[in-house]
Amino acid sequence: MKTYLIKNIFGPTIQGEGALVGSVVAFVRFSGCNMWDGRAETKAASACPYCDTDFRGGERLTAAQIVERLKALLPYGWVVLSGGEPLLQLDLDLVFALKDAGYILALETNGTLDTPLALHREIGHVTMSPKVPREQIHMFSADEIKVLYPHPNPLITPEHFNDYPADHKFIQPVNDESSINDENMAKALAKVLELGGPWRLSLQIHKILGVE
Ligand code: SF4
Repeated sequence: MKTYLIKNIFGPTIQGEGALVGSVVAFVRFSGCNMWDGRAETKAASACPYCDTDFRGGERLTAAQIVERLKALLPYGWVVLSGGEPLLQLDLDLVFALKDAGYILALETNGTLDTPLALHREIGHVTMSPKVPREQIHMFSADEIKVLYPHPNPLITPEHFNDYPADHKFIQPVNDESSINDENMAKALAKVLELGGPWRLSLQIHKILGVE
């Protein structure tokens, strides 16, 4: 039987960032990422030296087991598919199992992988947070783009993604693992005030509230 490597499933909690901020959700965190192998000794040289997520290891679960775990936490509502990079594993079988169980799906992705249209349109809310330059992004559109700021890669700035097709555009400070980085928050605020237009400031309020 097909299984998925899952780091953890948790909730109910609130979505701490982006357009769904404050919404009650459960998270399914997929193991593994194509931007970093998750080891401390390789982090500084990776594409994401600021990564605040532990996505190594985990447990192999079937779609039915994932649904069963979720039902014990949150019987209905939003389920956020996160990682790591969920699109390394997510497929229509799991998407339909979750939707048949009554959940609305949100996806958090780095946008580097081809996403079949059939899968993309089954997701209620797609957030793409670029970790590679614009020309290397494979995801053709998203409900929301979230640019981390200031990004260590000078080719990943809000200006480089001004034309990316997304209903919501956020600039979010690069924060410390479990707390807000005041210096980066000030820089992100200054950038939002400079650009205006569709760009809005996203804070990681779960780090302010001290929830997972
Ligand atoms: S893409 Fe996201 S989960 Fe993967 S290494 Fe980068 S910040 Fe971490």
